Amino acid sequence: MKLLYVIGIGPGKRSGMTLEAQSAIEQSGLIVGYHVYVDLIKDDYPDKEYYTTPMTQETERCKEALRRANEGTTVAMICSGDAGVYGMSGLILQLAEEYPEVEVEVIAGVTAAMSGAARLGAPLMHDFAVISLSDRLTPWEKIEKRLRLAAEGDYVIVLYNPSSKARSDYLMRACDILLEHASPETACGLVESIGRNGEQAQVLTLEALRNTSVNMFTTVFIGNSQTMISGDKLVTPRGYRL
Ligand code: SAH
Repeated sequence: MKLLYVIGIGPGKRSGMTLEAQSAIEQSGLIVGYHVYVDLIKDDYPDKEYYTTPMTQETERCKEALRRANEGTTVAMICSGDAGVYGMSGLILQLAEEYPEVEVEVIAGVTAAMSGAARLGAPLMHDFAVISLSDRLTPWEKIEKRLRLAAEGDYVIVLYNPSSKARSDYLMRACDILLEHASPETACGLVESIGRNGEQAQVLTLEALRNTSVNMFTTVFIGNSQTMISGDKLVTPRGYRL
């Protein structure tokens, strides 16, 4: 059988990877991925063959994974977090139509919203929306609209891709939109490098978040109107009577 696994490896450390993901990697001969993610697992699987491409060459990376699977090598396409959350599983499945003999198996991983929420406490106890601030593949106007509507709906909001070298002011712009509906005192949090060296978590108000600069390895949490800062934790009450 020709097999291509699309695997979410979790936030970073091997201990954050599911056993199912570990077993799929062990069964694969070739590991394909963005070099930053490949570097996270290479030491644990030194005998595998690796193929990496830079960030902007996702299509080439997926095509190579499919070509090699079609030739008979069991391939693992790895993504950080979950492969179906701003990852590669969608593109792989679209391109896989050209390779009917290759079976694609998607293996779930712990996405940054989940691992980050756990570090902060319990911010996602109620309805939440996940929005990426990257306008590489989505027009900025659409991102703004989603931010506005999520804030209007009083969702807890998780922001992925909050910054990059070319987009250093996007978090500030996003906060300004959220502040049209949300109070400046809204409880927020950010977590950087979850499960990796240099991990850091912080809770702060929306007003303070607006003036904070973050890097691309950060996931940002904006509470709903009920979310509280409790000690150093972020908690969104579910509504239970105490
Ligand atoms: N597939 C990934 C998301 C890829 S988009 C997942 O499910 O987690 C890249 C964004 O994800 C980053 O800009 C950051 O916002 C978030 N992210 C991914 N890994 C992270 C980590 N270890 N720590 C903090 N944020 C992370």
